[in-house]
Amino acid sequence: MIEELVNACVRCGLCLPSCPTYLETLTETSGPRGRISLIADVESGRLDLLSPGFTEQMSQCLDCRACEAACPSGVRYGRLVEEMRARIERARAHTRPPMRRRLRELLLRRLFASGRLMRGAATVLRAAQRTRTQNLGAALLGLGDVAALAPEIPDRFFVANDQRHAVAGAAGTAFLHVGCVMSVAFARVHEASIRMLNRARLNVVVPRDQGCCGAIAIHAGEPSISRALMQRNIAAFERSGADVYVVNAAGCGASLKEAGHLFPDDPAWSERAQRFASRVRDITEVLDAMELDPQIGRIDAVATYQEPCHLVHAQRVSAAPRRLLAQIPGLELREMNESAVCCGSAGIYNVTEPVMAKRLQERKIANTAATGATIVVTANPGCALQVQAGLRAAGSLATVKHIVEVLDDAYANYGTTIHRQP
Ligand code: SF4
Ligand code: SF4
Repeated sequence: MIEELVNACVRCGLCLPSCPTYLETLTETSGPRGRISLIADVESGRLDLLSPGFTEQMSQCLDCRACEAACPSGVRYGRLVEEMRARIERARAHTRPPMRRRLRELLLRRLFASGRLMRGAATVLRAAQRTRTQNLGAALLGLGDVAALAPEIPDRFFVANDQRHAVAGAAGTAFLHVGCVMSVAFARVHEASIRMLNRARLNVVVPRDQGCCGAIAIHAGEPSISRALMQRNIAAFERSGADVYVVNAAGCGASLKEAGHLFPDDPAWSERAQRFASRVRDITEVLDAMELDPQIGRIDAVATYQEPCHLVHAQRVSAAPRRLLAQIPGLELREMNESAVCCGSAGIYNVTEPVMAKRLQERKIANTAATGATIVVTANPGCALQVQAGLRAAGSLATVKHIVEVLDDAYANYGTTIHRQP
């Protein structure tokens, strides 16, 4: 498979200006064409899989897939980098110290897979955040700056509990994907999503037998964990009888839409996964396709839209969010420069590559500030955290909101007006 994917690249270089790490370094090896050459060298045996130059580049790549969207030859770069990361992980597994091996296993296989464990860990983190001891705890566990990058844990979680939110004259039923981090850090986004789906005349179901999409495991080079998590979601959707599987986190949506690629050696699961993937939609696609309740209020403010990589590049969804924002009376949408260049979040990238993540964050904040917007709208939790942290560090008072929160605010404001001054 690798050889076929590598050979699709004709070395034209048209992808280079879209690559964030190339834009920052202007170095061929830190761009997609250079990385594809390195992969070809590894595949042919000219370069060792674990050579520092190669592993560094596989780690420095954001897997943002901007190159894939720009490539006229249809090179599936995301699959290349994910396959190479999986091989690196397999080769490194036995050299990792036992403590780190267990911690990694615990995080990827147990923590993200279990809503109960996730809520337990989030409760501990929340207590540490309230007593400002999270950095000490992370240092004791050898996790460096991880705690500083963790989301602020709110008072309440969102628990998938077989809820049904019915609406009169419903046009169909939506399955709401709750996810792992979203469920403990972004309950308000799920609540706003349910209200918005109801306003689009869709019943909403939230089955308890769903779970993490497995994107973090696949980005960490652990496809077997990802497959097990995906199977759970596929089965939960099939049991639910819903018409559409709705996702409000772009990274999860991209993974779930690509479920069909996860089971190349299992025809039965491959068929189920493909059927499932064809029903997965980002929430902006769903709301954009439906007729929304016309009783929408005003938001008199300037907003800018930060495109999540896994929505614009991996799912190719770009116009729907803008059309939805254009429906809000009073809201002025000012486009930022490089709105589709990664903000440096990219899953756990700001933990594994903190230097490049910071450079990209600062680049994004400069582009955001130049618009004069007081609301930065996005559609992915990682982007929201990364941009909000960058704004705070720069002393900006602008707020970051998920697009469904902005829409929900506008509806809540029907009959009144929200003003936001710079
Ligand atoms: S990945 Fe695509 S755009 Fe980039 S050099 Fe290869 S063929 Fe050209
Ligand atoms: S996935 Fe993103 S960071 Fe990686 S080579 Fe492509 S454009 Fe560059």
